[in-house]
Amino acid sequence: MSGQQLDLLFEDAPAPAVGEVSGRRRVIQLGQELLTYSLHRSKRRSIGFLIEEAGLRVTAPQWVTVPQIEQAIREKQRWIVSKLAEWRSRRLPTRIDWREGGKLPYLGGDIILRMDGGLRPTCLEGNELKLALPGDASVDRIRDAACAWLQQRALEEFTDRAQVFANRLGTAPARITLSSARAQWGSCTTDGVVRLNWRLIHFAPGIINYVVAHELAHLREMNHSRAFWDTVQMLLPDYESSRRELRQHHPDRLPTA
Ligand SMILES: [Zn+2]
Repeated sequence: MSGQQLDLLFEDAPAPAVGEVSGRRRVIQLGQELLTYSLHRSKRRSIGFLIEEAGLRVTAPQWVTVPQIEQAIREKQRWIVSKLAEWRSRRLPTRIDWREGGKLPYLGGDIILRMDGGLRPTCLEGNELKLALPGDASVDRIRDAACAWLQQRALEEFTDRAQVFANRLGTAPARITLSSARAQWGSCTTDGVVRLNWRLIHFAPGIINYVVAHELAHLREMNHSRAFWDTVQMLLPDYESSRRELRQHHPDRLPTA
């Protein structure tokens, strides 16, 4: 289990004490593993479980004791563990180490930053991004060069995918451009200009496909009607899982934002 991500659940070592860690954060022993969760009190009448950005969130009525809550967690253990595994696998790092050996999320995996000198243009070799930069390049230059490469790759990827969907749809966008919108993954104007957030390049291809298919479907249906969703489904039959996955993310909370 990676020890890099601090909020990671089930950390083996160093073992946090079981009980209250700080404020609402608590730790419970579940079998061999330690599970961190946040506890919120509310007026609701039952105990609720939610996997959110920071992991497991438990909401319980004021009158339910912690041992009762932890009993409920144990009863729901199987569901919680499988949901958390899903959550962990789609989680992106909160920041990137802009230096030699740093990891960059790319198409759902990680690539490694390497300073390759200035003799040839930046290129990807295997899982190493060989940047056209000297070994002592500053953090800003590394970030700028890596993001420029990501944007160039994003435009190529998005354009290729849009081409496939345009053929299926029988109509093509007038233009595809990149955006770095803070609150939007994509948009489509009435004159057929499709804008796609370049940071989507961090995600697995399924998610990128979903956003591209969504925006292209707007070329036919400029709304979110039943007909629109039927069009998305025609373009991408299994779009729903990618759509759900994308909901866990926000453009403003990506590591390059
Ligand atoms: Zn839409």
